[in-house]
Amino acid sequence: MICEVIVDIAHSDVDKIFDYACDFPVAAGTRVAVPFGRSAATGFVMRVKETSDYPAEKLKKIYRAEEDFPALNAECLALAHKIAARYRVPMALVLRLFLPAEMRTGKVGETYRTFARLAGGLPPEKNAPMQEACFAYLAENGETDAAILRKMFGQAVNALAKKGVIALERRRNFRDPYRGVEGERTARTLTPAQRAAVARIGETEKTVALLHGVTGSGKTEIYLTLIAQALERGQTAIFLVPEISLTPQMLSQLRARFGSAAAILHSGLSAGERFDEWHRLREGSARIAIGARSAVFAPVENVGVIVIDEEHDGSYSSESAPRYNTFDVAYLRATYNGCKLVLGSATPSVETYRRAKEGEFELISLPDRINARPMPDVRIVDMRREVKRGNASPFSSALRERLEACLREGQQAILFLNRRGFAQTVLCRDCGYVAKCEHCDVALTYHSEENCLKCHYCGTRYHMLTACPECGGTHVYYAGTGTQRVVGELKKLYPAARILRMDNDTTSGKEGHYRILKQFADREADILVGTQMVAKGHDFPLVTLVGILDADMSLHFPDYRSGERTFQLVTQVAGRSGRGAEKGDVVLQTYDPDNYILRFAAAYDYEGFYRHEIGLRAAAMFPPFSRIVRVMVSSEKDADAIEALREVYANLQKLYDAHTDDFLFFNRMHAPIKRIQGKFRYQVLMRLTSDALLEAIYDAVSAVKPKNALVSVEENPSNLS
Ligand code: ADP
Ligand code: ZN
Repeated sequence: MICEVIVDIAHSDVDKIFDYACDFPVAAGTRVAVPFGRSAATGFVMRVKETSDYPAEKLKKIYRAEEDFPALNAECLALAHKIAARYRVPMALVLRLFLPAEMRTGKVGETYRTFARLAGGLPPEKNAPMQEACFAYLAENGETDAAILRKMFGQAVNALAKKGVIALERRRNFRDPYRGVEGERTARTLTPAQRAAVARIGETEKTVALLHGVTGSGKTEIYLTLIAQALERGQTAIFLVPEISLTPQMLSQLRARFGSAAAILHSGLSAGERFDEWHRLREGSARIAIGARSAVFAPVENVGVIVIDEEHDGSYSSESAPRYNTFDVAYLRATYNGCKLVLGSATPSVETYRRAKEGEFELISLPDRINARPMPDVRIVDMRREVKRGNASPFSSALRERLEACLREGQQAILFLNRRGFAQTVLCRDCGYVAKCEHCDVALTYHSEENCLKCHYCGTRYHMLTACPECGGTHVYYAGTGTQRVVGELKKLYPAARILRMDNDTTSGKEGHYRILKQFADREADILVGTQMVAKGHDFPLVTLVGILDADMSLHFPDYRSGERTFQLVTQVAGRSGRGAEKGDVVLQTYDPDNYILRFAAAYDYEGFYRHEIGLRAAAMFPPFSRIVRVMVSSEKDADAIEALREVYANLQKLYDAHTDDFLFFNRMHAPIKRIQGKFRYQVLMRLTSDALLEAIYDAVSAVKPKNALVSVEENPSNLS
């Protein structure tokens, strides 16, 4: 038997199929150990065949299979081929997406536990009290972990096993990442609107359905119903949520509803847990894969439904190699399985919404909250007037009034701001010097807890400045406000209030988010202060006030999507208010109170926003009316980067010359951030009228094989830094 093998080495030179002989039965998708060059390597069997064009005596032999089952099922293999072709990335890199990293490194293995139970033998003799007690314990409690039993009854356990009174059985132990997360199974009848949505998704001929439902309209319940239906049909499901929106409520709902049938693949899991959750899905004991974008590669078979919650979320496009778009992969899987792909959002991306409006996707709207709860009132506060009145604090008087009422009435509040750390930047008032990272050309952020400056791109720490390194001036000050400063000011104003802070600095570790959100959900705090992560789909019924401290921050970001992002952010944060019995309020602070984006967001007018935005995009020929492609070149050595850029650019230039009319923009330049993690960065930026040249661009770029530089292609990159 001959196997076509892809060797697990991510180098473009090795990126081809090698034939190996195999003298034991093996199926496509299996990981194998093979001789490669002068050493051994791991590889994947892509195909099994009878003959090779290669002379038989020269064929090397596969040493062994790494597992006794194919790590990749037939669908995953087919999918890998499509992804490698679509994004022009080495197959070895693509295949890695499908496995937990732990499996490749071999650092984590299976764990086993031994269980003891009565084997039906006679009770022990009277003169062995320990054995007697052990027997009685098992009779009462049933099967028990032998390790626990040994702690209680010592040698008696083995003695009883020897006599055949109890049976010991070693079984695979699956590490459970969410032990102790329990939820009550709230039996819920779907509302007529929810039932209609489920029915339409069942009936439509279209593969993709977009569930456009306002915050609190009960989208989650619809997803869960669709997943339950898939399980009833004997199928599996994939449920994707943005990276950090695995809220305690969501987890306990999933647990309560599906128990151990749900496997949770989350970046916060330990290596062993991830490994075990993956195996549970692969062997079929878990049938729902829940997780961030990488869960789209879950090893489930016969998929009955795929859900992408908060489809607009930026975390769905991968920013490191191999870059892929979660929607594209999910769509391939949905067509392969003949199942539905359901997208949900209160603020769909402009591109998705346009495709739905034009009839490509089934568009289902849920315009009302569950139980006709009102949307919270949004009050726009002009911060320029506050400054004029001498209020230099981060809180307007309107916000303070509402906050005080909220605390008095025992309700909860969320304060949102758009950055982390104590302050945005450190600035010299005398000469305008801004402290920047030596490796990244990005302004540093002050962190008061550690009294240091940090680069948010590479993490380098710097000493706090006492004087300006440029002019020696001592008027160094912090521009802007961070979460930490807000918490400090709040404590001064309301010493009795219990305050939680949630941002990248407080949520490190496996259960960082979970712990903070759980505390807040359990009413252990009155105010939650945080960055973007408080905006995600949380459902805290006691929150009646949301304060948006600096709505402008994202408006002035240099990106054609900054308006869209701001609309989404404001709508999502506002949506955390008034989800329970009490009506909610939102106070939106801005220096630009007449901005149309903020006006539409305050009025919950998605249609209005969409019409305005799509008009702007059409006029300026931005996506979805064009396609932005960026080719990024980076290298540790500036000269190497420039050389690679020159070659890439020359190839693309030929394309540009032949198809000038298809280009709206074509140029090469420094990347906006010239250096990240010590690597110099350059880019060729293109805006194209259609996708027609996409293939040719990939060809032109992959024809360049630079020695010491990385070259990658990004389509409509969500981050142009
Ligand atoms: P969304 O995901 O659209 O923001 P959720 O799914 O979080 O909304 O639902 C909002 C609230 O309504 C939640 O507290 C949820 O428990 C509740 N809810 C959802 N569906 C029902 C239903 N059919 N009956 C009663 N309450 C419901
Ligand atoms: Zn840096």
